[in-house]
Amino acid sequence: MTERVHPELNKEERVADMVSALRRGGLRLTPQREAVCWELAGDESHPTAQALYDRLKPRFSSLSLATVYNTLQILVEQGLIHELGSAGDGTVHYDADPFPHVNLVCIRCHRIEDLAQPGLQAIAREIDRTSGYRVQGARIVFYGVCQQCQSLEPAEN
Ligand SMILES: [Zn+2]
Ligand SMILES: [Zn+2]
Repeated sequence: MTERVHPELNKEERVADMVSALRRGGLRLTPQREAVCWELAGDESHPTAQALYDRLKPRFSSLSLATVYNTLQILVEQGLIHELGSAGDGTVHYDADPFPHVNLVCIRCHRIEDLAQPGLQAIAREIDRTSGYRVQGARIVFYGVCQQCQSLEPAEN
C-alpha cells in the first residue's frame, strides 16, 4: 500500500525541482522555504500547512505559518505539489506527489494513503494527447473507512 508511486525521482531531485519552482514563482529562497521543500519531498502523509509548520518550528524559530502557506501556494501554482482539499477534518491537505495516483481518505481518522494505480498514468497520457491541455497532474480521491478504523468498529449482528 505504501509503495512509492513515482520511484524514479529521488528526494534531492524533488527538492531541486521545488527550489527552482520557487525562484520561477518569484519567491526569494530562504532556509525556511528550502526546509519546507525538504519536508515535503518524499512525504507521503499528505500534510496540512499546520503540520509542516509544527514539524519545522522547533528548528526554525523565526518560521511563520504565512511563510509555509506562501511557499505551498507557489509550489501548487507551479504544479510541483497538489492541493488535495479536506480529509473531512476541515483543513487543506497537500499532496507532494503530483503524478496521477489514487488517494484513499479515511473519513474517521482523516489519514490519506496513496494507492499506486499504473493504469492512471496511461489515462493521463491519453487525456494529455486528446484534450490539447498540457496535463500536469490529477486529483483522484476515494473516501472510506480504513482497515484500522474498521477494526475499532463494533461487530455487526
Ligand atoms: Zn481511519
Ligand atoms: Zn497522494
